[in-house]
Formats: sequence, structure tokens, C-alpha cells
Amino acid sequence: MIRAFRAFSPDLGDFAQMCDEKRWIEAENRPGKRQGAFCTGLPTKRESRVFMTFTNSFDNVSTLAHELGHAYHSWVLREQPLFLQDYPMNLAETASTFAEAVLAEDRLHQSRSRGEQLGILDHMCSDAVAYLMNIHARFVFEDRFHQERREGEVSTARLSELMLAAQKETYLDALDPEGWYPDFWVSKLHFYISGLPFYNFPYTFGFLLSTGLFALAPELGASFPQRYRDLLIATGCQETEEAVKSTFGYDLAAPDFWNRSLDVVERRVSQFLALV
Ligand SMILES: [Zn+2]
Repeated sequence: MIRAFRAFSPDLGDFAQMCDEKRWIEAENRPGKRQGAFCTGLPTKRESRVFMTFTNSFDNVSTLAHELGHAYHSWVLREQPLFLQDYPMNLAETASTFAEAVLAEDRLHQSRSRGEQLGILDHMCSDAVAYLMNIHARFVFEDRFHQERREGEVSTARLSELMLAAQKETYLDALDPEGWYPDFWVSKLHFYISGLPFYNFPYTFGFLLSTGLFALAPELGASFPQRYRDLLIATGCQETEEAVKSTFGYDLAAPDFWNRSLDVVERRVSQFLALV
């Protein structure tokens, strides 16, 4: 992972190595320790810590990359005034999914085995379905729910109707009826975090933003790592649109940037189909 990060951005690679050497990552798998992962910042010490349980799977490596992406974000902001170190959640998930993408693309590039390449691409395509269809469905459901809630209480039957309609729409009718899940709103914890409405949306946004940035890297070459670092610093003091515009020059209100992100997804699907 350190090598993959370093090939992309020497600064990111050095950071991951430092986290390892300073033992900022708690990954031991021991009895009674829970699964799950998170990164937490220690602003007065200007350090971060990553907690996870490593069970020797590639998914775990990807999770570690995700959390180190968060940690790197805090790291580049550490010298900023405290009130300029905080950033909105959609931008937090950009740094994490970006680090995951760097690792996965490197692994795909290095792999010489067709089976392994298919496995990596399958994972990437599943991620795209999750972010662009499943999580998108949650957003559409929440949006409609909030609109109807203005007029009064929404019945359980109506909530299930809204959920099913959102799933059909966002999966573009590609989901088999066995996959329909009208009662999903009952079980998904995220819908009940009342202090953070639209909790799902930042993941789709972060995925598309990080994929688009990733697509820009080859043409920006050696200037990419510094611009990426500047963008992460800008997240603490600028609006999202302004942060991207001032560092990468793209207007997020126009479709161009987002189409580049979707081109990356399309390329992965084509690669998968060619191999299979
Ligand atoms: Zn995250």
C-alpha cells in the first residue's frame, strides 16, 4: 500500500509509512475485538489514529486505505487554525474513497492473473452499483420523504411505496423483483440519524468526486499531488465548488467533470466484460 500511495503521491506514501512506524494504526485481530473501522483526530496533538480489525482479507487492506485517506486529510490540515480544520462530510468521503481507488487501480495494474483482475474489477463495479444505484436510491427516498413530511405524518405503507419507487428508478429497472426491498427504510440505521439528514448522499458525492480527480491525475502528472493536497486544505475554508475550482479549475455545476468520473466507471465495466 505504501508503494502504491507513493507512486501516486510521495507525500501520501510517506504519510502512510509514518503512521505505520509511529504505530498510529490499531489493526490487531484479537478475541472480543469488534469489526468495523474508523479514523479519529487528536487536534491538539496534531495526530490521527486508525482503528480496525485486520483479518487478512483484501477488503481489510482496502478499509485501511480508506481510513488512511481520512487520516491524511486531517494531517494536511493540522497547521490550519482549528476552525479551518473541519470539513463537510461529502468532502471527508472524497479523501477516503480516493485512497481506496489509488490502491485498487495499482493492484489491478500490477496483477498478471486473469482471475485476480476479474476479482478486482468485480469489486470496483460492485462499488459503482452501491454508490450510484443503492445509495442513490436512499437519497431519492429521503428527498421524497422530506417533501411529503412537510404536509404531515407519512404512513408506514407510504414509506414502503416511496422506497420501492426509489429503488426501481435508481436501478433503472435493472433490479429483479427478488431484489426489491420496500421495507429497507425500517432497517437502515442511517435514516434515523436525525442530526444528519441525507447521511447517504456524501458517499455518492465523494465517490464521484474522487473518481473524477483520479481521472485527472495522468494529464496533470507531477503537479497532481500538490494540487490534491491544496484541495484537501481548501476543504476546511471553502465551499466545495470553490475548493475544486481554485485547485483543479473545474466547475462542479457543469456536467463535464462528472462525466469524466462516469467514464472511469464505464472503462472498468468494459474491462470486466472483455476479460469475462
Ligand atoms: Zn469514511
